[in-house]
Amino acid sequence: MSIAICPGSFDPITLGHLNIIRRTSKIFDRVVVCVMNNANKPNPMFTVEEKLDMVIRAVERYPNVTVDCSSGLLAEYAKQYEGAVIVKGLRAASDFEYEFQMNLINKKINPALETMFLTASEKYTFLSSSIVREMAYYGADLTGLVPNEIIPDIQRKAEIWRSK
Ligand code: ADP
Repeated sequence: MSIAICPGSFDPITLGHLNIIRRTSKIFDRVVVCVMNNANKPNPMFTVEEKLDMVIRAVERYPNVTVDCSSGLLAEYAKQYEGAVIVKGLRAASDFEYEFQMNLINKKINPALETMFLTASEKYTFLSSSIVREMAYYGADLTGLVPNEIIPDIQRKAEIWRSK
C-alpha cells in the first residue's frame, strides 16, 4: 500500500493545503495529514487541538485521508510508516529553497525517506495561512480561502484576538 504524509502547521488549514491533500489522495492509497507542532513557528493562532479539529472536518470527505499530529521531527515521525513518501506543495521559489534544505536535513536523519512536490494550483499560489490570519484579524470575508466549515472557528478566534 502506498502511503503519503502531508505535513504542515495548518494554522489554519487553507484551500491551498486542501488542494494538495486532495490531489495526493488520488495518487496514493493512503494519506496521513500530520499537524506539526514545531518550535520554529511560535505564537500560533490556534492550539494543536483546534488545528486538528479543523483539519479533521476539512478532510472528512476523503475516505483514504487520516489526520495525526506530531511535535517531533518529521523525518523521525515518518519512520513508523514503512515506505511512506512526504508530499508537499510548492508555491514559489522561496518555498523551493526552504524545502530543498529541509529535504537534505530529512535525508540525513532518515535516508530512506523521499519527498515529492506538487506545484500549487494557480488559484492558490498567493494563499498562505499567514494571509488568512491577517484577513481574519481585519474581519475580511474568508470565503474561497479556507474550507467553509471552518470559517466560524476562525472568526471566533479572530474576535478573541481583536479584543486582547
Ligand atoms: P504555510 O506556509 O501556509 O504556513 P504550512 O507550513 O502549513 O503552510 O505548509 C504546509 C505545506 O503546504 C507546505 O509544503 C507548503 O508549501 C504547502 N502549502 C501551503 N499553502 C499552499 C498553497 N496555497 N498551495 C499549495 N501548497 C501550499
